[in-house]
Amino acid sequence: MCIFCQIIKKEIKAEIVFEDEEIIVIKDINPKASVHLLLIPKRHIESLITLEKKDASLLQEIVFRAKLLAEELGFASSGYKLILNSGQGAGQLVPHLHFHLLSGSEIRDFAI
Ligand code: AMP
Repeated sequence: MCIFCQIIKKEIKAEIVFEDEEIIVIKDINPKASVHLLLIPKRHIESLITLEKKDASLLQEIVFRAKLLAEELGFASSGYKLILNSGQGAGQLVPHLHFHLLSGSEIRDFAI
């Protein structure tokens, strides 16, 4: 079972910021910025590469949740990045789809 599935099943501890039936949001264990959250669908979907159309509405849920969390946690006005690594070639290490939500002065240096 992948590490995020173990976190979702509460077999491994994580700092949970938000949770509902479909999504869990945790703090990244190795933060790259002052705010570094991971938004993870509870269903095991490997990546955007393998996403099926029936699961596509999950992405809408996650993106909107990112917007709400940025407002609720008070960093919407300073700006944020929502990053989705898809595939090992793009730096995806955990094979369970997840978005990185980052904020803080450090992220200005993360240029594409
Ligand atoms: P990616 O490279 O897009 O697959 O990102 C995986 C992210 O998961 C990395 O930023 C890791 O620091 C993070 N991560 C790995 N294991 C854990 C964990 N047990 N709890 C929280 N974050 C984790």
